[in-house]
Amino acid sequence: MRPDIRGTNEYRVPDTMQAWVLGGPEELSLVDKPVPEPGPAEVLLRVDAIAVCATDIEVLQHGRPAMIDGELPFHKNWTPGHEYMGTVVKLGPGVDEFEVGDRVTVEVHAGCGRCQRCREGMYTSCLNYGYRAKGHRANGFTTDGGFAQYAINNVNTMVHIPDEMSDPEATLVVTAGTAMYGLDVMGGIIAGEAVVVIGPGPIGLMGVAVAKALGAQPVILTGTRDSRLEMGKQLGADEVVNLNREDPVEAVRRITKGKGVQYVLECSGAPNALNEAGQMVNRGGRICLAAFPHEPVTVDLAHLVRNNIYVFGIRGEGKSATHRAAAFMMQKRFDATLIHTHTFPLAEVPTAIKYARERIEDAIKVVVQIHEH
Ligand SMILES: [Zn+2]
Ligand SMILES: [Zn+2]
Repeated sequence: MRPDIRGTNEYRVPDTMQAWVLGGPEELSLVDKPVPEPGPAEVLLRVDAIAVCATDIEVLQHGRPAMIDGELPFHKNWTPGHEYMGTVVKLGPGVDEFEVGDRVTVEVHAGCGRCQRCREGMYTSCLNYGYRAKGHRANGFTTDGGFAQYAINNVNTMVHIPDEMSDPEATLVVTAGTAMYGLDVMGGIIAGEAVVVIGPGPIGLMGVAVAKALGAQPVILTGTRDSRLEMGKQLGADEVVNLNREDPVEAVRRITKGKGVQYVLECSGAPNALNEAGQMVNRGGRICLAAFPHEPVTVDLAHLVRNNIYVFGIRGEGKSATHRAAAFMMQKRFDATLIHTHTFPLAEVPTAIKYARERIEDAIKVVVQIHEH
């Protein structure tokens, strides 16, 4: 619980708040908005910090995958941003899972809770995505997100975090949760198995950390920038391969003494990544695509079929993976803060996004600290 709220029964919630809203593509403006009211199964969070995600940049440019009642999110007085954490300041009717003053980090997708996928625990693939009347929420995609002082969250999208975890570290839980979901969907017995992670972006680097925490051996990270590969080593990679210097497939064969690996987590979106992954896994191996190329690509399907290779795709952070990633971070199994490189205040969200987009000063995760403690 926050020292500035602890011991008080009531946090004084103001009537209005500052929030960034999206006009047309790339048009963000800081406005005053009414502070929303939490409904049943919801709480109001004071947003303390939020990280910029590559998907935020996609949404600002193209709208998708954000979608509001079946339409693109432009000119809807809508607030983006989804990788945030904060403090509970008001409870909706019937909520007893949280208390005012609790520090939490959030998952993005609440789902609708009524469709087949939500009932299966695949709430990131909700069949009612974007239809608020059906109860669907995915904050920063289909409902208001966290580039604001306050945000509504369903109780099913919040994870308690300890006082020792800093605000910026807590914003990274959902990124680690996405990486964990990728390892989950491969149905893997990870401990003792060889895992390749392609692409040392935020999800790839967290993929390395989570795979190592799950006991994978060896964890091999491939990429093009030595600084990122070095960070991968600090997060648990046993071997790193710079594709500018060595063919990644040959490197994986060399490291595994010709055997190949059981699992590949593809986080680069490179056009040839799936073909390379197919050559890295052994027969019956499994590949999870956590990134994708923007154009259709040519894939050697015969190789995948003949070798009984399984290919999975993930969307977001399903199956409560965020809770499990948070548990690893609470146990200090890896230091996610290594990927946090820059911090800006709420007034400078466009600058924060520019740093993340253009990787200014080698930016990886750029955090906006909204509430100053
Ligand atoms: Zn994200
Ligand atoms: Zn659903």
